[in-house]
Amino acid sequence: MTRDPRHDILFEPVRIGPVTAPNRFYQTPQCSGMGRNYPSSWAVMRGIKAEGGWGVVFAEQCDFHHSTDNPRNVRLWDAQDLGIVTRMVEEVHAQGSLAGLMLAHNGFVTPNLISRETPLAPSMMPLFGTAPGHARPLDKADIRTLRQAHRSAALLACEAGFDIVNVYAGHDLALPMHFIAKRYNQRRDEYGGSLANRARLLRELIEDTKEAIGHRCAVGVRFAVDELMGEAGITCEGEGREVVEMLAELPDIWDVNVSPWANDSITSRFGEEGSQERYVAFVKQVTTKPVVGVGRFTSPDTMVSQIRRGILDMIGAARPTIADPFLPRKIEEGRPEDIRECIGCNVCTTNNFMMVPIRCTQNPTMGEEWRRGWHPERIPPKSTADSVLIIGAGPAGLEAARALGQRGYDVMLAEARREPGGRVSRESRLPGLAAWARVRDWRLGQIARMANVEMFLESPMAAADVLETGATLVGVATGASWRRDGVGRHHRSPVAGSERPHVMTPDDLMDGRETTGHVVIWDDDHNYMASVLAELLVNSGCTVTIVTPQASVSAYTQYTLEFDHIHRRLARLGVAIVGHHAVTRIADGGVDLANVHGGSDSTLDCDGVVMVTGQEPNDALCRELAALADGPRSVAIGDSLAPSFIAAAVYAGHRFARDLRFDLSATTPFLREDVAMAPRPQPERVAIQGSG
Ligand code: ADP
Ligand code: SF4
Repeated sequence: MTRDPRHDILFEPVRIGPVTAPNRFYQTPQCSGMGRNYPSSWAVMRGIKAEGGWGVVFAEQCDFHHSTDNPRNVRLWDAQDLGIVTRMVEEVHAQGSLAGLMLAHNGFVTPNLISRETPLAPSMMPLFGTAPGHARPLDKADIRTLRQAHRSAALLACEAGFDIVNVYAGHDLALPMHFIAKRYNQRRDEYGGSLANRARLLRELIEDTKEAIGHRCAVGVRFAVDELMGEAGITCEGEGREVVEMLAELPDIWDVNVSPWANDSITSRFGEEGSQERYVAFVKQVTTKPVVGVGRFTSPDTMVSQIRRGILDMIGAARPTIADPFLPRKIEEGRPEDIRECIGCNVCTTNNFMMVPIRCTQNPTMGEEWRRGWHPERIPPKSTADSVLIIGAGPAGLEAARALGQRGYDVMLAEARREPGGRVSRESRLPGLAAWARVRDWRLGQIARMANVEMFLESPMAAADVLETGATLVGVATGASWRRDGVGRHHRSPVAGSERPHVMTPDDLMDGRETTGHVVIWDDDHNYMASVLAELLVNSGCTVTIVTPQASVSAYTQYTLEFDHIHRRLARLGVAIVGHHAVTRIADGGVDLANVHGGSDSTLDCDGVVMVTGQEPNDALCRELAALADGPRSVAIGDSLAPSFIAAAVYAGHRFARDLRFDLSATTPFLREDVAMAPRPQPERVAIQGSG
C-alpha cells in the first residue's frame, strides 16, 4: 500500500540547527519508569519507537548534576553515566532516527533522597507536595556551578552521540521555570525582579549549551507557555509569550506545552486530542525556528492540519508513541486504520510514579521489548496444532483472539452478548470514557481482516457447547462482576443490609438501571469508577454523596494524573465527599457510617446505595471445564482469573496468545537486569574521604 498523498507533508525532513530530522514525527521526552534502573529495557524500547518511524526519539528527563537526583529520570552527572545513555543512542541511530536528551534540574520538586544535597530553588521555599524540609536559594557561585554542570553534561551528551540536547523549563518541574515563575522567585539580584532577569538562567543555559555543542548538536528548549492557573502563573497571553519573544531565535527548536504534567498529559476524560492548540498557537508567529507541540495526536488528518494551519512544524507525542510505536510507519504505508490509538487513560504514568517499567492499556508489549522479546508488530508463527476457542469478547478475549489469529491459529471467539467489547463497551458509555472504546474497536478491526478468526455473538457458552466445538485449547475470558455485598478492601465480610433492593452495583448502572433522589456511593475501589458513576448520577438528576475510607475519593488516580481534575469536577457537580468513613449498615432510608479511625459514628439519609468495592471473577465455566475428565485444555485469562485494570486484561490476553498458558512457570520467564557489584573501595580512598 502507498500512503495517502494528503499525508506526504508529515514525511518531509525538518532541519533543526545542524541536524535534520527524517520526518515530522517527534517523540517528546517521555517517562518510562525504566531509565537508569532498567537500562536495557529502556534502550530497546526507545529503539523500537525509532523502528516504528518516529524521526526524533527523546529519553525522559536527564538529571545533569547530583543536586537533582530524581530516581525516575535518567542521569548524566558525569562520564560514569555515559554507558546507559550511549546504548539508547545506538538503538535509535540503528533505525536512522535522531536521538534527543533533555537536561533537567528538578529544583525544589525533588527532595534529593539519594544524594542528600539540599534541594535548590530560586528563593527559600518548602519542598514540593508533602515532602518535609525546604529548598535553599542558589547563590551566584551555585548558579555558576550549575551552569558549568549543564555545559559538561551537554558535552557528554554530544560525546554519547545525541543529536538534540534540550534545556528544560517545563511542567513546573524545572529550575529554570521556577526562576521564571513570579510566585517562586523573590530574588533581589539580576536573576529576580523583571521577567528578563527571571528568564536569565534559561537564557544562559541555552547560550552555554549552544556555545559548547551547537556546532554539532541541535539545542532545543522545552518550555511551558501556560500553567492553566490564570494570572497566578505563566500565561500564553502574558509572560509565557514574552519569554518566547525574548528568546525567539536563540534555540534551534521550541518544544512547547502546558503545565503541570497533569495538564500536559491530560486524560481523555478531561481533554480532547489537540487540546493544547489554543495555548501554543502563538509560538510559530514569534519565531522562525521549528516548533513542536503535543496533544495526544493519533489522527494523521489532525496532524496534517496542525502543520498546514501553521500551528506546529513537528508532531510531538509521548502517549501515542507508547500505544503504537509504529504509528508513523502505518501512515507511511497507507494503513492508518491499523493505528492502535492511545485511549488517554494514563495507565502508562502510574508505573513511572512507582519507578517500575511502563505498561500500556492498548499496547501489551510496551516495556516487554527487551525482557520478553515482545515486538509490538511481530509475533512468532503458531507452534502447535491446536484449534482454539476463546470465550468472552472483552479486552482479554479480543486481544487473545487477535494475537492468536496473527500467529496463524484457527480461532473461534464466542461472546454471550449482542455487542462485543465486554467491560470496555460498557465503561466507554460512562461520562468522559468514550475513547476507551478504541481498545475494542482496534481489535475488532484487526480481527475482521483475519480469515482464520471467526466471532460468534449472542453465543453464551456452557461446558457442553465447548465440547461440541471440538477446540483443543480454550481461553476462558468471561470477565468479572462487581460485588453487591460490599466486600472489598475495607470490609472482608458482607455489609449488613446489602441485600436490600435499593443497593446497586456499577454493573447495574452500566446496564441502564435508573435511580432517583440522594444516592450514596461507597468507594472502596479508589480508582476512577466511583467518580464516573457520581457524574452519571448527577447528570440524571440525583444528588450524590461519596463515602470512602481514604482521605478522599479516587485516591489511586494521583498516579494517573487525574486526581485534581476529578475533584474539580466533583466540586462543580456538587458531589459531597465523606472521607475517613465506612458504610457499615444499610437500612431502608439511609446508611450507618463509622469513622475508620475510631471517631464517632453517624447516619446519612439516602434513597439508593452504590457499592464500588471488590469484584468477583465469572469463573464458573472455567471450573466446570477443568472438572471434565476428557475436556480440552482450558485456561482462565483476564478478569475471569483475577479482576484488575483493562490494561491487565489486554496483557493477559496477549500473554496467553504467545505462551498458550497463563500459569506460574517454574523458571523466571523474562530477562532481568541486575545491579553490577563494584569492587571494594581501596582503603586509601576511604581514608581520603574520611579526612575530608
Ligand atoms: P475481561 O476484562 O477479562 O476481558 P470482560 O468482563 O470485559 O472481561 O469481558 C468478558 C466477556 O465475556 C463479556 O463480554 C461477557 O458477556 C462474556 N461472557 C461471559 N460469560 C460468557 C459465556 N459463558 N459465554 C460467552 N461469553 C461470555
Ligand atoms: Fe495511552 Fe493509556 Fe497506553 Fe498511556 S496507557 S499510552 S494513556 S492507552
